[in-house]
Amino acid sequence: MELVGRHFLRRPRWYLLVTEFDWQADGDPTHRPFWEAATRRTLLIQQCADCDQYQFYARPFCIRCESDAILWSTACGTATVYSVTTVRKQWVPGFTPPYSVAIVELDEGPRLLTNIINGDASIGDRVRVVWRERTGLPPVPVFEPLKSELGEA
Ligand SMILES: [Zn+2]
Repeated sequence: MELVGRHFLRRPRWYLLVTEFDWQADGDPTHRPFWEAATRRTLLIQQCADCDQYQFYARPFCIRCESDAILWSTACGTATVYSVTTVRKQWVPGFTPPYSVAIVELDEGPRLLTNIINGDASIGDRVRVVWRERTGLPPVPVFEPLKSELGEA
């Protein structure tokens, strides 16, 4: 049964979790440290104590070596745009088009689905995390273009 459970947890559903609607502050306790850090505008990701692999979203074990020696680590907050698209049609109430939906690759390696705000970004562009405030819920990480790595730290 454990193998069945692990198989379920390893499904590639990360892209579904990083949205305004799927991230719940009081949902799966595996994610609680992430949300507690989010209230301080700190982006936490997991790191395996045995093989050093970073992973996001949170899981109870390492996706590389299956160790359960999982630590939380503060991500540096910079990333590279892996994929991006502009939504030009009203699909979701509260999200007024046009807006950018992107997969960004954190400098630590994991990718997450997010929005690009405060400008446009193309594949390969550098971005950095900023936080979208929400009423009654922790802020969510979104990203903005990093115009110059030397000029904006
Ligand atoms: Zn590991």
